[in-house]
Amino acid sequence: MPADRNLACRCGAMHWTIAADTPGTHVECYCADCQTFARHLKAVDWLDAAGGTEIFQTLPSAVRFTEGEDNLRLLRLSPKGLMRWYAGCCGTPIANTLATPGMPFVGMILKPGTPGFGPVVTHANVGAALKPVRQSGIARAVFGVLARALRAKLTASGRATPFFGADRAPVVAPEILTLAERDAARPPKAG
Ligand SMILES: [Zn+2]
Ligand SMILES: [Zn+2]
Repeated sequence: MPADRNLACRCGAMHWTIAADTPGTHVECYCADCQTFARHLKAVDWLDAAGGTEIFQTLPSAVRFTEGEDNLRLLRLSPKGLMRWYAGCCGTPIANTLATPGMPFVGMILKPGTPGFGPVVTHANVGAALKPVRQSGIARAVFGVLARALRAKLTASGRATPFFGADRAPVVAPEILTLAERDAARPPKAG
């Protein structure tokens, strides 16, 4: 039986796991916003050579914070941007979610080359990549998100999430970047 996948922030204060049996899609996202997030956190070592962010798209119910959860912080690049979660202790990127928990979705951010998630099967938003990358696997990623969410929504345990409270609000208040802060962290090829 495969083991749970244990991850930690770079300073070691925060630990979290992704359940072993949870299906997901291993994606590399090259979009300017993912790059901006990592650059703002000064976590450029979480980007690959082409500016890609490695993401394991799965269900929030598979994610459990096991240590240092009080360090969890939340950032939005703009008032309507994705919820981008990170470790406040050391600026390690952790995850992306939508703004509300209605759609059971999380993109768990992986340091490039993290073992235990199989090969990258989707290369998305390659237009903002810093080197030429071929787009691939988009339909597979979209179908994966929808199929997992549909199944998960049928049960209370499937809808569980560590990122939102029972009141459907995020467990920590988001910090929203100013335009100046966002522009300062934009990657070279941002459109
Ligand atoms: Zn840390
Ligand atoms: Zn992205």
